[in-house]
Amino acid sequence: MAAAAPTPKAVVHQRFGAKARYTVEEVREAVGGCPGLAPQTRSVYRCALDLPGLSVATPGTFLRKKDAEQAAAQIALDKLGIQPTANIPSTPQEAWDELIARISGFFIDENFLSSTHPLVGHLCVTLRRTGDLIGRIPLPAIAACDVKVNTLCKVIDHRAEFDPLLVLSLMYNAAKQSPGVSVSDSNFWIQSEKPYSPEAVELALERWSGTTKPVEVEVILVPHVLEDELKTVRINLRDNEHYMSYVAAELSAIDSSHVLVSRTIGKASSEIRLYFAAPNIHVVSDISKNSLACHGDGDINWQVNKRASYICGQTIYGDALLANIGYTRRDSELHTKDVNLCTYYRILLGKLPDGNCKMSRDSILAAQLPSAYSRFSWKGLSPRDLLCSFCRLQMLPEPQFAVSRVSCDMLMSAVSSEERGAPADSVENQYTNDVRINKETPDLFKCEVNIRSRKQEILLEYSAADTWSKESDAIQNSALKVLIWFNNYFKKLTSKTDKLYLSECTDGVKIHPNIFLREFAMCLSVYGKTGGNDSAMCNAVGPFSMDTQRKHLESTAKLTHIDGPDSGVFPSHGSLTCISYTASLVTKDKAKTYLLESRNEFEFEIGTDAVSNQLESCVTQLSVNQTACFLAELPPRDLIMAAAFEVSHDLSNVSIESCFLEFFVKVLQVTEPLEDRMEKALFSPPLSKQRVEFAVRHINELHATTLVDFGCGSGSLLDSLLEHPTTLEKLVGVDISRKGLTRAAKSLHQKLSKKSMMQTNVPTAVLYDGSITDYDSRLYGFDIGTCLEVIEHVEEDQATLFGNVVLSSFRPTVLIVSTPNYEYNPILQGSAMPNKDDEADESVGPCKFRNHDHKFEWTRAQFQCWATGLAVKHNYSVEFSGVGGSGEEPGYASQIAVFRRMMQGQEAMCLDKDGDQPYEVLWEWPNACEEKIGTDL
Ligand code: SAH
Ligand code: MG
Repeated sequence: MAAAAPTPKAVVHQRFGAKARYTVEEVREAVGGCPGLAPQTRSVYRCALDLPGLSVATPGTFLRKKDAEQAAAQIALDKLGIQPTANIPSTPQEAWDELIARISGFFIDENFLSSTHPLVGHLCVTLRRTGDLIGRIPLPAIAACDVKVNTLCKVIDHRAEFDPLLVLSLMYNAAKQSPGVSVSDSNFWIQSEKPYSPEAVELALERWSGTTKPVEVEVILVPHVLEDELKTVRINLRDNEHYMSYVAAELSAIDSSHVLVSRTIGKASSEIRLYFAAPNIHVVSDISKNSLACHGDGDINWQVNKRASYICGQTIYGDALLANIGYTRRDSELHTKDVNLCTYYRILLGKLPDGNCKMSRDSILAAQLPSAYSRFSWKGLSPRDLLCSFCRLQMLPEPQFAVSRVSCDMLMSAVSSEERGAPADSVENQYTNDVRINKETPDLFKCEVNIRSRKQEILLEYSAADTWSKESDAIQNSALKVLIWFNNYFKKLTSKTDKLYLSECTDGVKIHPNIFLREFAMCLSVYGKTGGNDSAMCNAVGPFSMDTQRKHLESTAKLTHIDGPDSGVFPSHGSLTCISYTASLVTKDKAKTYLLESRNEFEFEIGTDAVSNQLESCVTQLSVNQTACFLAELPPRDLIMAAAFEVSHDLSNVSIESCFLEFFVKVLQVTEPLEDRMEKALFSPPLSKQRVEFAVRHINELHATTLVDFGCGSGSLLDSLLEHPTTLEKLVGVDISRKGLTRAAKSLHQKLSKKSMMQTNVPTAVLYDGSITDYDSRLYGFDIGTCLEVIEHVEEDQATLFGNVVLSSFRPTVLIVSTPNYEYNPILQGSAMPNKDDEADESVGPCKFRNHDHKFEWTRAQFQCWATGLAVKHNYSVEFSGVGGSGEEPGYASQIAVFRRMMQGQEAMCLDKDGDQPYEVLWEWPNACEEKIGTDL
């Protein structure tokens, strides 16, 4: 005897654990209905179930909460194609016997007619008929609406999952042996051998109302020739005819018994399916069940419909119709809904690694898959959920996440010996032995990810290099890395590269090319339209780079119609910014505009690639309450079509390629970067101010007249220095961010103009666009150099390069370098984390860094090791200090090194004005070249 089947809830739990969220809703329902009495009500329950990437709800209500939950779990399992294992026969023979019995059951058990099974809907149409055709339905209708039949077919032959034609053939042969049913010899019709009792028929017809009025539904024709355009087709359903016969007519199938139906596509609740005509196959009626699966190759292969097969994950032959028509448990009549081009393109978009990210943000044109994960600013489905639904939609098993603990001490020793990058004989090595962490170090986590093929072979392995102090951060970050990898890969597919390479190993991602290409073959052939030759493309194996470093590519959107005064509050790197926008397609002659997408409130973090480059560039050029327009690069046609819900009809005649995409944007609100919010909330005066005061003290102590701020950003230090009485005569800022420098120029310009009206000895100022790792001889031998909160924004080797360049070439008298103290993070995060309730379910612990643009954050020991090594090497002394906190354990919030040049006889001041001058002057005071910054100063 078979063991008792686990309940649907138990199976869901086993699969999803705490990720499964049940929401039970109580509803009052009228009962009785005794004439003359006020209607009585009772409580019934409905249940919604949310799983990663899938949400379902019970269509009806239940008297008991737990029944509602079980029903919701069952619906979810059906949608996911999961059967409680004890319910599934384990051998093909058992499955075969059960298939025969199940098919019989539909026809010989009259109780079945009073059930809500959708198949009864199909039967009822035919029960309204007269003559021999009463109760005769197409065999494929059973496959379309009974999950169990499909599961049994899968056990008999695993290929049935992907092949509706094989399912039909298995069902046909099983039906032949099913008692009580008759199957036609040359067609796929099935009916009960005995007529049903009038009572049973009456009961069924009571629930399933017929089509009284003609209904028109829109469906999409997906031609099997890839080059042929999709077509919108209208089908008229009328006269109580079975809907599949209209579909058959549209497909030029012999009759509706030759219309095959795919599984449902897209959202769990949808009845969207693909319909296609069975290819002309031989119906062999007396075939032995062992040789059932012998078709599917050879001559019918030429007409595989790649697009259709790709979107449903099953093999579809010939032209196909994408339609949302069918009988369901929740309706008492035929359910119909229009499917337009937009529906099709959204299904397609959903299968891309970033598609669900865009759709879960309800922003197809503006949003993109961010390049960094932060618990605090991530919007929409989490990376893990996105990866799960990506795999599910690509018909792959759930991704596997393996989290491991790494002890912090182990890491530290690794860092100190490897990452200093010091030559073996250098002085720096003397200090590495002193690195010691004198507080308890918590464990860190890393997470590896495996993506497997349908046959459970590994096709992609990701092994994490990064460690995280929270398990969930490790999982989300690894999931994101894998998604980004897929996304880059798919981007390459859609762009016009003629060859695509798959490397075996990049950035922690290891691909097994043969398995990978086999699993994604259908997808490759749909997207690799340009190449035409799939096998050539699929066999190309070679280097393929991750290409995640989009960061410093500051594309500039050309804004028009800038409206509103500069409010001075602008979106800076790391800030959460809320905008409203519309995106419209505009014909080149500007005669017609089609609104594609609009959002009243859309929030994202600047600097995480959460929106397109051009949109971010636009937003960072505006301040709060300003609006502007810009023309964006035209996205791929598929994306435009997916966005164009309202206008997809009109667009079918527009030549999109000759249009502009116009964005209209308003900045509504800016929330400062988390790092700044923490610094402000915890320290008074704020840390940035304390840093300025720290610098001012040193300037005055030194009677400095020249200062260069390395990595000046938007000029906050230079700006504040103008407000302090100092001995400075010349101020210089260097940065690689044009945006930052433009901001700096604006505010310095304003301040200096005011100052020059009141005072005579106004300092000169210059802003250079350049990298602080390059030497520029114009900045040689300044009195003071500052580099505040910059080094952690570059890779460690670059920070060391900067240290070497500045102390060996720029040679300032004093250099002040500040950077976050990693050991202080638990204090910052313990007391000033905003939105604590968001995180109620997660244990409080230090998040990795203060700002995810940080490439590292050092402990005091690490920083001191870095600075001391540099000082010794370049003949400077170094002293450590900081701002924020008392300086006692665990040190200052922001640690500072003050380097002083040690005077030596031969230190000749060779001011070589003609040496290398790689920096570009962006702005200068006085005589600022106004045109460079533009007129909006
Ligand atoms: N010093 C400023 C800004 C800190 S943010 C302040 O304290 O407010 C870090 C800055 O370093 C950014 O403006 C970034 O553009 C800049 N930066 C990063 N790498 C750089 C490089 N290689 N050369 C110059 N600037 C750089
Ligand atoms: Mg920083």
